[in-house]
Amino acid sequence: PYDVLVVGGGPAGASAAIYAARKGIRTGIVAERFGGQVNDTLGIENFISVKYTEGPKLAASLEEHAKEYGIDIMKSQRAKRLEKKDLVEIELENGAVLKSKTVILSTGARWRNLGVPGEAEFKNKGVAYCPHCDGPLFAGKHVAVVGGGNSGVEAAIDLAGVAAHVTVLEFMSELKADSVLQDRLNSLPNTTVIKNAQVKEITGTTKVDGITYTDRESGEDKHIELQGVFVQIGLVPNTDWLADTLERTRMGEIVVDNHGMTSIPGVFAAGDCTNSAYKQIIISMGSGATAALGAFDYMIRNQ
Ligand code: FAD
Repeated sequence: PYDVLVVGGGPAGASAAIYAARKGIRTGIVAERFGGQVNDTLGIENFISVKYTEGPKLAASLEEHAKEYGIDIMKSQRAKRLEKKDLVEIELENGAVLKSKTVILSTGARWRNLGVPGEAEFKNKGVAYCPHCDGPLFAGKHVAVVGGGNSGVEAAIDLAGVAAHVTVLEFMSELKADSVLQDRLNSLPNTTVIKNAQVKEITGTTKVDGITYTDRESGEDKHIELQGVFVQIGLVPNTDWLADTLERTRMGEIVVDNHGMTSIPGVFAAGDCTNSAYKQIIISMGSGATAALGAFDYMIRNQ
C-alpha cells in the first residue's frame, strides 16, 4: 500500500505529494488532468515571487517538480469511490483499487458556466471568473458581473475599485447577497444593478464588446456595451463521487480541520474542494502542504 495517496493533481495535490514524498514515504498521485484549473488560466500575476507566468507553463513545472521525487504519478485516471477499512481504499473508474494508509483529496472545483453564446468563445478574451486574478486587466474599463449572490456582489465591489463602471446582472428580482454587501455596493458611485436580467449572449469580435440580456419583466432584449464579463454564479467542488462518505458543506465542500483532516481519520483534503475561505493557487498549495504534514503526523501516531 501507499503511505500517502493523493487524489487530484492541481496545485493542492502536487504540493501535497511533494511534501509527502520529501518525508521519504511511499507516495502516489492520481489525477484526471495534471495541473487542474491552472491549465485553463492564461496569465498568472499573483503567484507570489513569480511576477508573471502562464497556466500551461506552471502546470508543466508542477509535474516536473513532482517527478523529482519518485512519486507514483497516475494520470488520466478518475477516482469514483472512497472507503475506509483498515487502509483507505480508492477505486478508480477503470476498476483498479488503490490502498493507502492515508489519503489526501484535492479534486478541486469548477466555475459554473452560464452556457450562453460567446462565453466559451471569449474566455480569457474578456470573459473571466476570478476577480482577484483578472480584475486588474480591466482597469478603467466597463465590466459586468453576472450573479448577485455574495460572490457576485463581492466581485462587483472589488472591481469597482479598478474598473470605470461595474454593472451587476441578477436573474432574480432581488439580489441574494448579504445586506451589508448590498449596502456597500449601492454606496459606490460607479456601479449599477439590473435585476430580472437573463443573460442571452456575450458579444464581440476578437474580444468581448458587450452583453445582451432579456428583461424578464418586459420580455425585451437589451444590450450593454462593455469590455469584460465576470461570471459569478457559483464554484462547484468536484466532490460528488464522495457522496455521504465524509462530511461536506451544503455546497459540497469537504470540511477539514486545521491539519487538513476530514471527518474520516486518516483522510485529509486540500485546495478548492474544501471549505477553505478563498480559492487561489497559492492558497491551494499551502493547504496541500498542510494536509501532507497532517497525514505524516497522523501516520507516525497511528502505526
Ligand atoms: P484544481 O486546480 O481544480 O485541480 C483538481 C485536480 O483534481 C485536477 O488534477 C483534476 O483533474 C483532478 N480531479 C478532479 N476530480 C477527480 C477525480 N474524481 N479523480 C481524479 N482526479 C480528479 N488562481 C490564482 O491564484 N491566480 C490566478 O490568476 C487564477 N486564475 C484562474 C483562472 C481561471 C480561468 C480559473 C478557472 C481559475 C483561476 N485561479 C487562479 C484559481 C486556481 O486555478 C485554483 O484555485 C487552483 O487551481 C485550485 O487548485 P486545486 O489543486 O485545489 O484544484
